[in-house]
Amino acid sequence: MNTNIWNAARAFVAALRVNDRESATGRVWFRSTRVCPDWCAADHRCTARHGYPSGEHRSRPLTCPTPYGNVVATRTQTINGASHIELRLSAHLDRQEAIAAKQAHLLTQGVDVVARAVMAAELQRAVAGQVRR
Ligand SMILES: [Zn+2]
Repeated sequence: MNTNIWNAARAFVAALRVNDRESATGRVWFRSTRVCPDWCAADHRCTARHGYPSGEHRSRPLTCPTPYGNVVATRTQTINGASHIELRLSAHLDRQEAIAAKQAHLLTQGVDVVARAVMAAELQRAVAGQVRR
């Protein structure tokens, strides 16, 4: 990955953090796998409540309209505790095929780089927090 792109993505994530002042307590809560977390839709979308081995808690999809289209986010958590976020991005592409192809390519790369930077920053924060204790 290009170093300039990676540094820009990390700077972008740092800028996002300015508006996100909430900090985690570091506490880990244990609950029965059949008890839904607060964010779970706790309806037909949640299969963890039924105790299925492949069951997962699922949030209601959150749709964020943007100038370029929509982003839909859904949080999930397996009964083993693995958490994920599913993101569906729908963006309007240019009518000219050459431009649309370039937009699609750059958008996909950009989302990937920002996701990697966000995940790396969170891991660094978690490690730094463990070292301070
Ligand atoms: Zn649930």
